[in-house]
This record gives sequence, structure tokens and C-alpha cells, in this order.
Amino acid sequence: MLSKTPILVAEGDGIGPEIMRATLRILEAAEVQIEPQFIEIGEKVYLNGYPAGIRQEAWDALRSTKVFLKAPITTPQGSGYKSLNVTIRKTLGLFANVRLCKSFHPYIRTKHPKLDLVIIRENEEDLYAGIEHRQTQEVMQSLKLVSRPGSEKIVRYAFEYTQACGRKKITCLVKDNIMKLTDGVFHEVFKEIGKEYPAIEQEVKIVDIGSALIADTPEQFDVVIASNLYGDIVSDIAAQLTGSLGLAGSANIGEPLAMFEAIHGSAPDIAGKNIANPSALLNAAVMMLVHIGQPAEAEKIYNAWLATIEDGIHTRDIYQEGVSKQLVGTSSFTDAVIARLGKVPQQLEQADFSSAKMQAITFHSYERKYQSKELVGADVFLHWEGSDPNELGKRIEEHCGTQLRLQIITNRGIKVYPNGFPETFCTDHWRCRFLAKSTMSKKGKTHYLPVDYASILALLNRLYESNIAVIKTENLYTFDGVRGFSLGQGE
Ligand code: NAD
Repeated sequence: MLSKTPILVAEGDGIGPEIMRATLRILEAAEVQIEPQFIEIGEKVYLNGYPAGIRQEAWDALRSTKVFLKAPITTPQGSGYKSLNVTIRKTLGLFANVRLCKSFHPYIRTKHPKLDLVIIRENEEDLYAGIEHRQTQEVMQSLKLVSRPGSEKIVRYAFEYTQACGRKKITCLVKDNIMKLTDGVFHEVFKEIGKEYPAIEQEVKIVDIGSALIADTPEQFDVVIASNLYGDIVSDIAAQLTGSLGLAGSANIGEPLAMFEAIHGSAPDIAGKNIANPSALLNAAVMMLVHIGQPAEAEKIYNAWLATIEDGIHTRDIYQEGVSKQLVGTSSFTDAVIARLGKVPQQLEQADFSSAKMQAITFHSYERKYQSKELVGADVFLHWEGSDPNELGKRIEEHCGTQLRLQIITNRGIKVYPNGFPETFCTDHWRCRFLAKSTMSKKGKTHYLPVDYASILALLNRLYESNIAVIKTENLYTFDGVRGFSLGQGE
């Protein structure tokens, strides 16, 4: 007999309490070894003056219980309320989002009957850092932050997951033909760590064509790994392809905490009507059981759920004339799953979680490798409302001083000085790149030389005294002699 694992449960808002009740009823009937403890989060907490939707006691409970089954919550309209999901994921280091996307053809209508893939999305970094600034009248900026430790963690997890679940292939989606540093490090880490898993087939695809292929022929994919934004988009595409966004659960995995939830929202339009489909939350609970080392119980519940779907006992959202046999509400659907515990589906593929050794997933601690970091210049961003880059270039050249030289001016990343094209459209946001005066260019290859920070500060001071509006500076570094910044387009 397994000892009971404490589980923290939040019933959420809207349909949350109904589908959580249904899920817990099924878990109890399947005699899973869990001990639910309840916390309140979401709308009521937000409206009671907690802008993050969660109280300190709930944080404490999360940190001590470590496994969290969460029903959807309603984020109140209006600014000032932060997404609780993003807060929980980031605060508790839930770095991996895992979404299983599978078709249940012919019982649930889909154009892709053989679809069976897993999307593993990085959960903490990338454009979701939410660091944005309006820098000029015309230009806004969002910072895309991708770290080597963050990339190592998610890539390692994806390979371990693929191996633990007995899956065969992993596809990494990046756009490093454009974002050579941020997506570049993700790609590089994927190749590096991939070498330790030779039995797993590996491929890298540019995210645009990769997403198009997932939408067109998802059968060719098995496990897909992507950074936060691409993963967010691709996981919704993949879930939609299964025919119902409402059936998928997702896991947010950290070390040692994990959160499991439905991918849909709180559906206030149907709350309290006993018509919501509890399947997505139930499937999230199945992922939770695998995660906490109760794969046999997970299998029993999932097979009973498959048998219910196969018997045509469907809630309104998946009901189809000619395919479905019985239209049921939340509680009757729950009864039907309970009645089938111990049964297996006849047509749909039975669950097999026996090889899912999630407990064995190992997290490697990150080892920081020091490289020699050298300051070799600065990008100075200006707000200037003129239109002729040559006029700006000549003005800026006058302020370079004895140590620095103006290498290039770009506007939205495209070179406009020297020798820009008159056709290039320019905004009021200019990036001026300064390098050491003596920087050498050997056969077209720039050899960067160190500059001292005081020369950059002196440059900024001269610009300020000449009424040139500096928005910000970005220092340019090399690491062990390798350029740590992208070139301007046309540089
Ligand atoms: P939603 O997913 O709640 O609803 C979209 C549509 O799908 C609605 O027509 C709804 O009735 C239907 N639907 C959703 N789940 C269903 C289910 N289990 N059974 C049957 N039908 C179902 O999305 P929304 O309307 O955009 O958002 C409603 C609220 O949910 C918002 O406050 C939003 O912020 C929140 N939300 C929460 C989460 C979360 O907690 N993880 C995720 C998404 C949205």
C-alpha cells in the first residue's frame, strides 16, 4: 500500500468547483493514494485586495505540499491584476510546461486522426519576462531574455521526459537564423545536451516552417520543445488539431514543485449549469498521478475515461450527432467514468504509463563556466526626430572623442549610416554603435579591441551637453574573444 501523497487543491472560479468535484470523485473511486488539502486562489482573493490573486498562506501551503492540482480561475477585468498562472510559474520556478495533445478519432472529430504529440514549453524566460518600455514617441521595446541555465534546464528535462516516456523523437523549434544569440543559445544547448541521448532521434526546425508542419502533418512529430512564446503558440495549435481544446491537461514542472491544470479557462458562461466537461482537469490529474509515482492508478482512470468517450457518452462541447450515443452533464459523465474503472477501451489505444518513469527524471545542477568578458564598445540609442541619417551621422561623429569611433547607425536594426539607402523608412529611434577607434578590420573581419567604460560615460556626457537625447546604452562585450552582440543588418 502506497503512503498517501499530500496534494494541494484549488477549486478555482466559474466551472472550476464543478469540474474539480468531478475529478476528485473519480480519483477517490479509483482509490488513488492522495490526501487533498484545499486553498483558495483567484477571483475572490483578487477582489479582496490581493493583486496577484493569492495570499501568503497559500504560498506557504504550496511550498510545503509541492504538488498542486488547480482548477481554472477568473482574472478580473482591468489593469492592476496580474496573471496568477504566470506569477505561480515564475515564483516557484515551474520552468517546464508539458502538454499532451492526442486525437480520439473517430469519437471526437479531428482532421488528424493519428495525432499524438507532446509539447514541452519553456515557462519562465523569453519575451514573457514582460520587460517593456516605450522609448520614443514612435517605438516600444520588449526584452527577450534567454539564459544558458534556463535553456539547459528545459532541454535536459525534455530529453529526460522523452526517454522516461519511451518516446522516440524530439524536435526543437527556434528562429536562430534571425535571433542568433537568444535562440542561438537554445539551439546550441539542444545540440550539446542531445549528444548525451543518442537513442533519441533529434531535429531542429525553424519555428515558422516547424509550426506549419505541425498544423499540416502532426503525425511526423513526437515530442516538440520550444521557448516560451513559440511554445505557447504551438501548444494551442496542437491542442486545437486534436479537435477539442477542452480535453487537454497540462503540467507545469519545477524542482521540486509541480502544478497540474486544464488548459481551458473558467468558462463563466456555463458555470453552475452542470454542463461543463471535466475531462481536461481529469487528464491533468492523470499527469499528476504519473508524476507522483502512481502510474497504475493513472492508467486505470485514463482507460476508464477513454472507454467512456468510446461508448459515446459525451458532454455538450464534444457531442456529435451520429457519433455520440448519450448527451450528459458533468455529474453523469463523472458517474460514467467511475462505472468504467477497471475497463479498457476497445478501439482507442489503451493507456500505458508503466514505462513512464517520471520519478527517475534527473535534474542536473547548472555549472557556471567563467569566460573572459571584455568591453569593446557601446550601442547608444537616441530619440531624434530628424529624417536624414547623414545629418545625424555627421553630428554624432563630432562627439566620438579620442578613443571611440562611430561604426554604424541603424534604425529598427537596419543600417542607415554610413551609405544607407534613401528608401529605408526611419522612425525616431536610432541606434549608434561605437567601437574602439583602433578597431582593426582584417579581410572584412572586425577584430574588437577593449575600450574603457569611462570613455563611454564621457561620450554620453558630450551627447547630453549637445542636447542629443540618449534613451539608453547597451554595452558591447566579447566573451573569450567571441562577439556577444549581433551585427546590424548591413553592417
Ligand atoms: P474559456 O476557456 O474559459 O472558455 C472558452 C469557451 O470554451 C467558452 O465558450 C466556454 O464555455 C468553453 N469551455 C471552456 N472549458 C469548457 C469545459 N470544460 N467544458 C465545456 N465548455 C468549455 O476561455 P475564456 O472565456 O477566454 O476565459 C474565461 C476566464 O478564464 C477568463 O477570466 C480568463 O482569464 C480565465 N482563464 C483562466 C485560465 C487558467 O486558470 N489556467 C486559462 C485561460 C483563461
